Amino acid sequence: MTKYVYDFAEGNKGLKDLLGGKGGNLAEMANLGLPVPPGFTITTDACRAYLRTGKEPYGLADEIALHLERLERQAGRRLGDAGDPLLVSVRSGAKFSMPGMMETVLNVGLTDATLPGLAARAGDERFAWDSYRRLVQMFGKTVRGVPGEAFDRALDEAKALAGTGDDLGLGTDALRALVDRYKAIFREHTGDDFPQDARVQLEQAVRAVFGSWNAERAVLYRRQEHIPADLGTAVNVVTMVFGNLGPDSGTGVAFTRDPATGAPGVYGDYLANAQGEDVVAGIRNTVPLQELERIDKASYDELLAIMARLEAHYKDLCDIEFTIERGKLWMLQTRVGKRTAAAAFVIAAQLVDDGVIDLDEALTRVNGAQLAQLMFPAFDLSAGPRRIGSGIAASPGAAVGAAVFDAHRAAELAGTGTPVILVRRETNPDDLPGMIAAQGILTSRGGKTSHAAVVARGMGKTCVCGADTLDVDVHTGQFTVDGQVVREGDVISIDGSSGAVYLGEVPVQPSPVVRYFEGALSPGADQLVRAVDRILTHADKRRRLAVRANADTAEDAARARRFGAQGIGLCRTEHMFLGERRALVERLILARTAEQRDAALAELLPLQRADFTGLFREMAGLPVTVRLIDPPLHEFLPPLEDLAVRVARAEERGEDPGHDRELLDAVHRMHEENPMLGLRGVRLGLVVPGLFAMQVRAIAEAAARVPGACAEIMVPLVGAVQELEAVRAEAQGLLRELGVDARIGTMIEVPRAALTAGEIARAADFFSFGTNDLTQMGWGFSRDDVEGAFFTRYLELGIFGVSPFESIDRDGVGRLIRIAVAEGRAARPDLHIGVCGEHGGDPDSIRFFHDAGLDYVSCSPFRVPVARLEAGRSAVTATGSDTR
Ligand code: PEP
Ligand code: MG
Repeated sequence: MTKYVYDFAEGNKGLKDLLGGKGGNLAEMANLGLPVPPGFTITTDACRAYLRTGKEPYGLADEIALHLERLERQAGRRLGDAGDPLLVSVRSGAKFSMPGMMETVLNVGLTDATLPGLAARAGDERFAWDSYRRLVQMFGKTVRGVPGEAFDRALDEAKALAGTGDDLGLGTDALRALVDRYKAIFREHTGDDFPQDARVQLEQAVRAVFGSWNAERAVLYRRQEHIPADLGTAVNVVTMVFGNLGPDSGTGVAFTRDPATGAPGVYGDYLANAQGEDVVAGIRNTVPLQELERIDKASYDELLAIMARLEAHYKDLCDIEFTIERGKLWMLQTRVGKRTAAAAFVIAAQLVDDGVIDLDEALTRVNGAQLAQLMFPAFDLSAGPRRIGSGIAASPGAAVGAAVFDAHRAAELAGTGTPVILVRRETNPDDLPGMIAAQGILTSRGGKTSHAAVVARGMGKTCVCGADTLDVDVHTGQFTVDGQVVREGDVISIDGSSGAVYLGEVPVQPSPVVRYFEGALSPGADQLVRAVDRILTHADKRRRLAVRANADTAEDAARARRFGAQGIGLCRTEHMFLGERRALVERLILARTAEQRDAALAELLPLQRADFTGLFREMAGLPVTVRLIDPPLHEFLPPLEDLAVRVARAEERGEDPGHDRELLDAVHRMHEENPMLGLRGVRLGLVVPGLFAMQVRAIAEAAARVPGACAEIMVPLVGAVQELEAVRAEAQGLLRELGVDARIGTMIEVPRAALTAGEIARAADFFSFGTNDLTQMGWGFSRDDVEGAFFTRYLELGIFGVSPFESIDRDGVGRLIRIAVAEGRAARPDLHIGVCGEHGGDPDSIRFFHDAGLDYVSCSPFRVPVARLEAGRSAVTATGSDTR
């Protein structure tokens, strides 16, 4: 039979799946001999069964009764006993910490009948009434859904009546009256009397905690944090200890190091004569933990010793909740504490220095998302800018600009060179032009998966959303916050990493980590840079995946190398056809004869050769994968509307539109309903004679000029081996003619290519997965449209937890990749395989590519360090482990 209840003595921190984080850690502390109030944990299995069926699983009630009896024996008190009642707390605790998202009920067991017993034992009647009013409130709110404001209002009225601003100013009589009022509120809202049977209280509280797993805010939090929805929460039933028993009692929270910077020391808050929730709720002002030394030295010393012990035991920063009951210290919770990205690196490196963990372990303590965060510029807050609000940190970065409330106006102003911040209540697809033009986006509604957040992240743009204290009026073009009016044109600064909104221009500082990569700071410059350098160097030693960069220019290539790239995995040659070279492409398109076409190509050749020469020089012998031109040629012509207007105007004036007419005809001729699925990539190469040959010649001639150059030629959009064979035959002929050696490979970005990889491998020296197109064609999602159009809804519905364009869809697109790797290697064991879609720089996806057996990932230069770190982490940690 399934065991649903564990005494603390039976558990440990390794059982978090079953006992939740809180339960596992309470058991761990109890087993370390630390002062933990006795208790037991009801498992997540029980919760899941309850949520599935709507009732407690068979046997649970008996098990709870058994463990309660044991607890009663240990405590020497009984639940519901009028003489000397046992009180318990009922606390949620899931596997992953979900701070404040689920419920807790304290003082369970207190009734009209047991109150005198508690008062007598404590020798303090006021305390008993204070505990009772807390129970009625918490139980009412949590278990029966009574609105919290109803209780808050009654508390405020009681304080006003007693002429006090502080709950400590309420005497016994005031509290007794307040309990009566609370009970009346309970009755008004539930139609029932407050339960006077202690066991019924316990039973209902346990059920409420189970149910709180599916509370709206918990669901939302899980979605944001990518916590699986089906884990359920454990429930901890713990003997109450009281921090509200007078001035020699209190409660507090502490960290074993500074969670913001990682610096060692004592960090925490203490509140005398209070119960746990008061600290978090900010009802009274806490004092710094150091003050406890003065208030109760013995408890303080004991706490510090326990903190040191916990840090040594967990080998990491711990956060702690404790209570002091009349001079006796009790530990109520510990866990490995959350920390900032900077602190994560600093602490991991420090623990290595202290000999507590090794470098492999340090690698598991940080992640690529944290490193990416550290690479964004940040505000210099030293001048104390005026913070006027804050919202959800939806997309990192520091953006400054004039507030603008309309997307078109934003685009217009940005067009004149004025940096703008687009401010909206919420955004919709119509706002896209303004979002693109803006430095950053600020909304007063919506969470991390709102339209604004999803689109901004996709664009790598700073975004703060859901800043709900801002009253945004898009019609009058202003927002009001705390009486301050911000109008169109007023400069504001938004911090997408913290969610802060400032009035005025806050200076922006480049990231020290980026300055270090750029060579502007030495590795020893500060402790953060030192920590990043140390851990990244180790990641490089451990990783199996090589890391290359996507770079099209010599400058990008140079930056990529400084960031540690081991080659270029994707040079998109179409980017070399922009600017003044468009005229040549136009000539190519408009050519009426083979001679005209060849002449245009002949003029492009030296330009391309110079481009590639620059890249080969910069990469000094590292591989450079040059991809032959991919997009449809008409993308290089002016937009249809512009041309049509120009032609119409000329004709109106009775002039000959000449060249414009020719271009317009070409645009019409080449128009495609689905250009993404049209004449592009290898198809273009096979249809426009000489185009690919010109590029291959330019690559070969450039390679011949740079000693040691390592060129790789990559063919895009291949779906059938015959396409690749045709291009390969021509390219090989040219290479032979020029006496240059280069590998010829293909992108795998059309699902058919993945499914026929065994055949395609016969004609390819390497594969590189183009996961942008593979996702587009695998899902049938237009990569340029859908994220802004309907992904918000898809995320809300849980169809996926994160956009498949951001993080690889393991089950679908990932399956295509695995098939292609297996069949490609089976046909050709030495096949070199990488990825060059956006996913190559995404931490989660990198782990997948490692597991799938790829040889390298290629990503934007800025992402190279992130990829190095994640590749190292993938090599030292088992699949699926994480640092949450
Ligand atoms: C891809 O499709 O993933 C890819 C790298 O090619 P592009 O983004 O240029 O289509
Ligand atoms: Mg592609």
